[in-house]
Amino acid sequence: MKNKAFRIYKFGGASVKSALGVENLAEIVRRESGKLIVVVSAMGKTTNALERILSDFLDGRKDKYLEGFEQCKEFHISIVKGLFDTNTEAPLEALRNIFEQMDNFLNKPIAQGYNFAYDQFVSYGEILSSTIVSIYLNATGIGNKWIDIRQCLISDRNYREGNIDLALSEKLCREVFSHNSQSLFVTQGFIAGTLDGTTTTLGREGSDYTAALLANLVMAESVTIWKDVDGVLSADPRIFPNPVKLDEVSFKEAIELAYSGAQVMHPKTIKPLENKKIALYVKSFLHPDTSGTLIYQTNKRIAYPPILIQKTNQILISLTPFDFSFVIEDCLIKIFTVLYKHRVKANLVQSSAISFSICVDDEQHFLPGAIDELKLSFSVRYNKNLELLTVRHYTQEAIAENTSGRSILLQQLTRNTARFVMK
Ligand code: ADP
Ligand code: ASP
Ligand code: MG
Repeated sequence: MKNKAFRIYKFGGASVKSALGVENLAEIVRRESGKLIVVVSAMGKTTNALERILSDFLDGRKDKYLEGFEQCKEFHISIVKGLFDTNTEAPLEALRNIFEQMDNFLNKPIAQGYNFAYDQFVSYGEILSSTIVSIYLNATGIGNKWIDIRQCLISDRNYREGNIDLALSEKLCREVFSHNSQSLFVTQGFIAGTLDGTTTTLGREGSDYTAALLANLVMAESVTIWKDVDGVLSADPRIFPNPVKLDEVSFKEAIELAYSGAQVMHPKTIKPLENKKIALYVKSFLHPDTSGTLIYQTNKRIAYPPILIQKTNQILISLTPFDFSFVIEDCLIKIFTVLYKHRVKANLVQSSAISFSICVDDEQHFLPGAIDELKLSFSVRYNKNLELLTVRHYTQEAIAENTSGRSILLQQLTRNTARFVMK
């Protein structure tokens, strides 16, 4: 029974940023003999590029968005040319079809607002990458079926952060994946579909979440996310010197790390896996034979080193009620109703008698509306360009090393976690 279950492999943007990356993916997939679903993200920084094209389009900067679109086409065409020496006709034709759909989008007025437009357009990054990967695998003898995940992962119309209908998606995923003689599938991360055929996305970096959802829905044996690092490290190696690799991490620890902003995985990844006790491996696509990190259900006391998580571009908003009333239930309801309405997520909150502080990402599309609405009931002050540092399993040395010389605006200590909002 066990060997009949799927494994899910998720390849992020960094793993498919070039022809060499796709070739490397093929070698990793070739070694897998059982049933496998390959989930891919957009290639390299394509999602950022598509976001810029869309903004330029919506702001009427025609030269800029056309230039951006040309670069996006060239990038994907050059990957195809790097992968297929001679037989480029079929993959280039497939790309042309997708570019034509994108072009149609950019030639029509947008009727339904930014979030809707975002999902219809930015989702093409994953359509492009999964198409190239699927055609390349088939061409190199790794037979697979390309699946449009929008047909079986069904969400509501909460554009840019679709909520998945688990019961319906489970039924559809089982029909598509489980009741199929094919053993290898290639599909998209990050995107889903509504019942009436529009596209939604699941939040930036959401492909990890897609892999976890699919694992949950088809009751997979495990998920592996392939990264450019050796596994989950005790800090982001781009920021902190000499982090150590964690061999094993409990689901409980992993959800805390991801929620605090550890970029190695999307925060929503853990719940679908924990709920079905499905193990998650984080492994290096550069060194696929090394052991990586195992994230799983365990009650074992794992001895973690201090783990550092930095979130930049934070804004600390301080609210004081105009009428000097306490910040208690009714006030809190008012604050969180506004945050929820504008989709602003609090990374950290702290309150006193008549003041309430919230540290949030400085997200330009959501925040200004929330601040304007809060100003109707509160005196609002804010500090921008801040950093939120979380130290899990802190020691005094780790705190001193990473906060000395910094101006700390707010700090919180619990038994396991120290958090600092700093300049
Ligand atoms: P993907 O290509 O799958 O989208 P990301 O670039 O989003 O991958 O995530 C991998 C990156 O996350 C690594 O290159 C690393 O710089 C960063 N990172 C941040 N925190 C950690 C951590 N605790 N452990 C490992 N990598 C981390
Ligand atoms: N391509 C999307 C992003 O860059 C989703 C992902 O990579 O996980 O956010
Ligand atoms: Mg990513």
